[in-house]
Amino acid sequence: MSTQDSTKLYCSICKRRAKGFKNRSGLQRHETLKHVSYNTLPSYVRSVPNSELSHLKKAIIKELQNRLKNHHTAVGKQVFSIHCSEDAFVSIFKNHITRYSPCGSSYFCSFKGEKAFEEVGKILDDEIWGERNYG
Ligand SMILES: [Zn+2]
Repeated sequence: MSTQDSTKLYCSICKRRAKGFKNRSGLQRHETLKHVSYNTLPSYVRSVPNSELSHLKKAIIKELQNRLKNHHTAVGKQVFSIHCSEDAFVSIFKNHITRYSPCGSSYFCSFKGEKAFEEVGKILDDEIWGERNYG
């Protein structure tokens, strides 16, 4: 008894999929508007054992350090990318994911303020990562 229009995209978060979207950006906009704090992780994500994550964590630290070294005067958002599986990413950041977007397959984490360094350090098992190159 589906009344869904197959040419349209439907929000996978809304229980009642009453409204379809013509395109991905419409759906993305809807998600941003209505589900900005939705962070239920997708069920297909499998947790990766910590022993397998240590290499990745080190790589992330390195990338972060490079980023901050090049932009140490910059204040604000720093964006970087790293190649890893979705499973690995979620395993590392699962408790810190503030938003998940099914439409964009993207996860949002945010670290800011005085505790940010410490918090990231705990996640990445290297609590002095931020002190190595900066005061
Ligand atoms: Zn929705």
